[in-house]
Amino acid sequence: NREIHLASRPIGWPTDDNFRLVETEVPTPGPGQIVVRNQYMSVDPYMRGRMNDVKSYVAPFALDAPLDGAAIGEVVASEAANIAVGTTVLHGLGWREYAVLDATAARPVDPNVAPASAYLSVLGMTGLTAYAGLLEVAAMKPGETVFVSAAAGAVGSLVGQIAKLKGAGRVVGSAGSPAKVERLRALGFDAAFDYHDGPVRDSLRAAAPDGVDVYFDNVGGDHLEAAISVMNLHGRAAICGMIAQYNATEPPAAPRNLALVIGKRLTLRGFLVNDHNDVRSAFVSDVAGWLREGTLSYDETIVDGIENAPSAFLGVLRGDNLGKMLVRV
Ligand code: NDP
Repeated sequence: NREIHLASRPIGWPTDDNFRLVETEVPTPGPGQIVVRNQYMSVDPYMRGRMNDVKSYVAPFALDAPLDGAAIGEVVASEAANIAVGTTVLHGLGWREYAVLDATAARPVDPNVAPASAYLSVLGMTGLTAYAGLLEVAAMKPGETVFVSAAAGAVGSLVGQIAKLKGAGRVVGSAGSPAKVERLRALGFDAAFDYHDGPVRDSLRAAAPDGVDVYFDNVGGDHLEAAISVMNLHGRAAICGMIAQYNATEPPAAPRNLALVIGKRLTLRGFLVNDHNDVRSAFVSDVAGWLREGTLSYDETIVDGIENAPSAFLGVLRGDNLGKMLVRV
């Protein structure tokens, strides 16, 4: 069994030296436990926060111990009455080839309904974040103009498509390369721009001449500032993530125009996907339907090998991914 441990805590951008590949024995299950051979694991931006030793909404990773996070795999040994060997399960012990865990901490899924990887992307936490953030937190209504940042990423690419499927009038996305911008147009975004091409506010104004009603923020910083400038009266922003500052060593200066929220009566609302399980059944039924019809696409960028998990994680922070970044373990 090979697993990735946290060797040291980064200051600023993480490097390969913050991670260590460690070989251990394949674990054996205790009473009520299962052993899972992981097939895919997720690397997520929020994991950067867990590398710091600070109190947050999830505990920090421990030094000299394996990292963890969402993973899916096949049960290869079981001492639990309700989960048989051969079952595909979703669980929270990624960053290792074999995971031993209590059966109660695993959720069986049907790999015949969707490919295993989809339970970590479109049908998993990623998809629910997009769905709940857009429809519940920002309460998007048909006809509205929606702007989403990191739009070619896992959450953002679903936000834009779900907005169109739910009747948005205009959907605008920003992303970090011409190829990503092209992909957004192919996914049905009405307008898309590369945020390197000029000040975000100018590009956003040009892409949304009638203003923005809903902003789905994955980036923070200059993107949030631009959205506040361009948002219409009573606009709502779902504050999902602020990836532009996850590796910052100084607090960001923007948004400098926060006073605009008063006159425009804007709502900026932070949220965590874990609080939105109430929409899970609507989410699964909508997304399964759109996938069946072929009206919702999802991209995955797959990196092979547990030894490459750290570089896949660094890649998601840098923007190497189109859609969901996953490691095939
Ligand atoms: P993505 O697949 O979107 O990957 C992150 C993307 O961010 C990269 O591909 C990169 O794309 C972009 N990016 C990186 N740095 C910058 C920057 N300085 N400015 C603009 N864009 C940047 O990741 P996820 O879909 O998993 O997550 C998206 C966001 O949602 C993150 O902020 C994450 O923390 C948050 N999140 C929040 C949840 C919640 O419960 N609140 C749950 C899940 C995710 P590019 O090439 O375009 O720069």
